[in-house]
Amino acid sequence: MNARETERAYALEVFPKRDIAVVRGDGACVWDDQGRRYIDCVGGIGVASIGHANAAVAEAVAEQARVLVSCPGIFYNDVRARLLAELVSIAPPGLTRAFLCNSGAEAVEAAIKFARLATGRAGVVSAMRGFHGRTLGALSATHKKEYREPFRPLVPGFSFVPFNHIEKLRAAVGEDTAAVIVEPVQGEGGVRPADPDYLQAARRICDEAGAVLVFDEIQTGFCRTGRMFACDRYGVVPDVLCLAKAIAGGVPLGAVLAPERLQPPPGRHGTTFGGNPLACAAALAAIRFMRDERLDERLDERAEALGARFSERFDRHRPARVRAVRQVGLMIGVELRERCRPYLQPLAERGVLALPAGTTVIRLLPPLVITEAQIDEVADTVAEVLDD
Ligand SMILES: *Cc1c(COP(=O)(O)O)cnc(C)c1O
Repeated sequence: MNARETERAYALEVFPKRDIAVVRGDGACVWDDQGRRYIDCVGGIGVASIGHANAAVAEAVAEQARVLVSCPGIFYNDVRARLLAELVSIAPPGLTRAFLCNSGAEAVEAAIKFARLATGRAGVVSAMRGFHGRTLGALSATHKKEYREPFRPLVPGFSFVPFNHIEKLRAAVGEDTAAVIVEPVQGEGGVRPADPDYLQAARRICDEAGAVLVFDEIQTGFCRTGRMFACDRYGVVPDVLCLAKAIAGGVPLGAVLAPERLQPPPGRHGTTFGGNPLACAAALAAIRFMRDERLDERLDERAEALGARFSERFDRHRPARVRAVRQVGLMIGVELRERCRPYLQPLAERGVLALPAGTTVIRLLPPLVITEAQIDEVADTVAEVLDD
């Protein structure tokens, strides 16, 4: 049996599958079992920022696997210690502590629990079109009806406000609010950047109400938007930063960055795998790669430049069925005047893998190591397919 037949036979499948078996990656490309090459603008869903099969991460993982793979948080560990210090050193000012877990949803769960512990309040306010993960707490903060409804009742205390609407946010936050959670650029919701004054107002509203401001940068973090973190772009520092996806070169890892005052009492939260030396070694290698001077340019600058290059090239022959292009670094949303899903297969047939975001937006999250020639090919292919 090939991968297709075997997965069909044995998986408890949760995803609508595409008819491609991906077996190998290198840089911005992946190959299928027929030897076909694709420029990968799915990028592991925004995970593969430093490129597939990154040599530095491969080496770090192999080396650490021979030394120590598991070390629970009840013990200190040299590699974890180095990663905690590294994360705090690149974090926005004031976020002087880090908690390590295994995924984005787990980072959101921890953020919600830490905010509830620190404030003694239950309320969580999040944004319409926002996405924060599929576990029950993170799902309670996620707006999309199709994801939520089958799993009710969800966690009590959660409410939604329209994204980028300052007055509605002010009205929703009060003395019961533990946290406001928001993506600086909504990913799943259609690549929608927050207005700068909205995030600044969110900061003030949370300060006045004594609520914890949580930025979910699971997708936007680690150079995707042209800065190490999107909040650096906005000049707004949250109380809590949730991270995952690109943090460890594709190895599962999540993190929560926060100030010391959000330190939970010992024993209130925990994780078996979180902060294991294998994932920590991968993250140290990945972050070192992002900041490495040996690249022609730093990875954040590269994302900024290549994102602008895409927009400029795509705009030259923009197909009529395109309603808008939203691009922040290499986080790109091409919004159509119609449903986007029918275009994903023709794009793959021409060698470009892309994601949907909502029903009408084609989302491109290429590895940030993508070359100029490859990003040009992506812009031209998307334009061609949408013009047919
Ligand atoms: C992917 C994502 C999550 C969930 O991360 P998982 O690792 O899939 O649990 C949460 N928030 C945002 C913004 C994401 O993009």
